[in-house]
Amino acid sequence: MHDKAVVVGGGICGLMAALLLKRRFKQVTLIEQGSEVGGLFRSIQDERGASYDMGSHIPNATGISELDDLLFGTEAERSNYWNVITKLKSGNYFQNSWDLSSPFADSKKLDKEVYYQGCAEMIQSTDFPDENLIVPYCRASLGETFTDHIVIPILKKLYGRHTDLNSLTMGAGLFGFTRILAFDADVANELKNMPVFDAKLGYQTHEHFLARQRRDASTTPDYFYPTTNSGIQAWVDFLKTKVELAGVDVRCNCKIRSLETRARQVEKVFIEGHDSPLECDLLFWSAPPFIALKALGLPVVANKPELRTAIVFHLNLDKALLDRQSHYLWVWDKSTDIFRLTLYPNLNPNSTTNTLSAEILCKPDEVENYRIDSIIEELKGMGVIDIESSCIAHVKQVIHNTFPVPTEAFEKNNDKNYHTLESSVDNMIISGRSGGKQWRQADVLIAAYNEINHLIGDV
Ligand SMILES: Cc1cc2nc3c(=O)[nH]c(=O)nc-3n(C[C@H](O)[C@H](O)[C@H](O)COP(=O)(O)OP(=O)(O)OC[C@H]3O[C@@H](n4cnc5c(N)ncnc54)[C@H](O)[C@@H]3O)c2cc1C
Repeated sequence: MHDKAVVVGGGICGLMAALLLKRRFKQVTLIEQGSEVGGLFRSIQDERGASYDMGSHIPNATGISELDDLLFGTEAERSNYWNVITKLKSGNYFQNSWDLSSPFADSKKLDKEVYYQGCAEMIQSTDFPDENLIVPYCRASLGETFTDHIVIPILKKLYGRHTDLNSLTMGAGLFGFTRILAFDADVANELKNMPVFDAKLGYQTHEHFLARQRRDASTTPDYFYPTTNSGIQAWVDFLKTKVELAGVDVRCNCKIRSLETRARQVEKVFIEGHDSPLECDLLFWSAPPFIALKALGLPVVANKPELRTAIVFHLNLDKALLDRQSHYLWVWDKSTDIFRLTLYPNLNPNSTTNTLSAEILCKPDEVENYRIDSIIEELKGMGVIDIESSCIAHVKQVIHNTFPVPTEAFEKNNDKNYHTLESSVDNMIISGRSGGKQWRQADVLIAAYNEINHLIGDV
């Protein structure tokens, strides 16, 4: 057994790492700069006690049974805490109407002439675009017309009208909108046999999707939502309890002052306001890499990206939501700045509230432009909430610094910082979404699990 490990960052990545490391190290300390652990997976309540989540909140299984048991309890235990969702239901709003069967914008809703022009361009694009910039990628993949009418308005909504869209990398396409619906359902199904069309077209029927799964012998992961009525915070609380029971020393409101190395090993971690350092045999780092570089006194490439602010309008209504099936919905229509909706009664069968969250991304100084009354009117106009319904409680949650506008310069500098750090010390694992290598919850956790096993070996 090793001696002492320090984990920096108390998001889900740091919590999971602390649990895994406690099986291999006698002493594990988790350092979190905020007042609570959980990172982006957190919930808040309105004045009536209804719970809502921040941006990300429907975790999915990783497919690694050791990890899934640790994160969600054993299969036998799971139904005690979770609504296990075997088919995540999502839909999208585009050109003023809903499509509850697909998350992808349907180009058939565009004006006929535009649609035919778009199809003609798309069918001729038969090469895989060799592009790391999202706009040129889409122009080469979807064609000029579909890029102009579908992708550009979505990019403006997510990254701001002021942003030079031509500077955005493929990292800007996190939410999957580089794939669209086009052509007749059977034609699209046939085209998807070719990888180049598979990458840009979505299935239009569930049967086609299932046939593909059978052919590939693939499955979709289970998704989880807590049944406790306290939102995704229940997951964080569950993990925090596990971490504490395992004997991890969790320290919130702590900031790293400096890191001391000897022979390429971080040996001491100094915390602001504390004289005596933490001894360290392994450092698991899930905070931004440039902070570790500064703490090590190493050169940092100046990297001041524009960070998007999220506004999440959490609404509690006096009438049932009109959509009784979708777990969450994308809003691709350009008439509103809302880009995503979460419908809690559909996520949690125990829920007795008519609650939803509407998310917007903006610049920090635009927060005041968005008001609850106009959001409610927009939602009524979209037909998600009853035109007669009234809001009985609400929270306007503002979360600054959610994610950077992914420009080429930002990714290059981030990469440089990551590699300087990686090549400077040998007993450090750089992980988590801030490392920039993974972003989605399951991908982040799988990568961290593999990195821990790779460096220290399986228990
Ligand atoms: C708006 C939005 C929507 C998202 N939607 C989805 C989605 O639908 N599906 C999905 O799979 N993923 C989604 N994600 C991504 C998901 O949130 C991440 O995969 C997940 O949060 C990664 O966990 P983490 O622990 O790496 O990072 P975080 O959750 O960011 O946690 C990092 C922790 O480190 C702490 N920290 C930072 N610096 C320091 C420091 N110097 N010292 C100590 N502690 C520090 C922070 O306070 C924080 O608690 C979304 C992200 C955002 C921003």
